[in-house]
Amino acid sequence: MSRRGREAVASAPACPEDEDVRLAFSDRHHGNMSLVVAGRGQSAPDPGVQAARAGILAVVGATPGDAVFMEQVHGGRVARVTGADRGRGANGRDHAVPGCDALVTSEAGLALVVLVADCVPVLLVDPGGSVAAVHAGRGGVVAGVVPAAVDALGATRRADVLAVLGPAIGGCCYEVPPTMADAVCRVVPAAHATTTWGTRAVDLPAAVTAQLAAAGVRRVRLQGGCTRCGSDRWFSHRAAREGTRTQGRQAGVIHRQRRPGAGCAGIHDGVSRLARP
Ligand SMILES: [Zn+2]
Repeated sequence: MSRRGREAVASAPACPEDEDVRLAFSDRHHGNMSLVVAGRGQSAPDPGVQAARAGILAVVGATPGDAVFMEQVHGGRVARVTGADRGRGANGRDHAVPGCDALVTSEAGLALVVLVADCVPVLLVDPGGSVAAVHAGRGGVVAGVVPAAVDALGATRRADVLAVLGPAIGGCCYEVPPTMADAVCRVVPAAHATTTWGTRAVDLPAAVTAQLAAAGVRRVRLQGGCTRCGSDRWFSHRAAREGTRTQGRQAGVIHRQRRPGAGCAGIHDGVSRLARP
């Protein structure tokens, strides 16, 4: 991988008023980030994946020991994590935070990770407060995982919250059966889309953006494009299923860096560990 490839996704501070938060999204150049796809086996740690993970975590100033992974079950559940969770899932999905699709923390020194290949990776920053990583696929959008994660941030001012959406499949390519599209659009009308070849589709990034707006978050940044259109750059489950590309997962990572004596840890202690049952 070229140094330029790494720098292309390296992140400046996520927002100017909170320079301690770094975020990044990987692409194919960084390598596959999943231990359970690409036929690598489900239990034995793959050294290639570990090196890839270490690479993208370094971009945000973190190490695999700082990382927290989640199980990602296409639901609406949010898990609150603390320093005691550092390293969870780094060596296997069995040890990831179970049964959730969003991680939220108010502590410094944790790198929250979401793995995707078409679903929307959403990173949330409450400046001076909590951060979150969210996995928003079709199931998560219907289950409301994004607004649940916004709630769990506990932001005093929702208007200050920054949401960054990473590369995901667009309405241009996410063809689904009409009954499935209708089911999503009943929950989020903004999901309505038509593929470039004229069939029914779901626009997940548009749906997430609408859900954020309804939750009071209008400061939304898109970082990356359609994973299927750009499957030479990003992993795409659809493209892999069509046989045009290899399977894999990219990562979205967010890290509030350690800053001794100036941490924001604990200011949102009122948030329950699981914000939504
Ligand atoms: Zn597309």
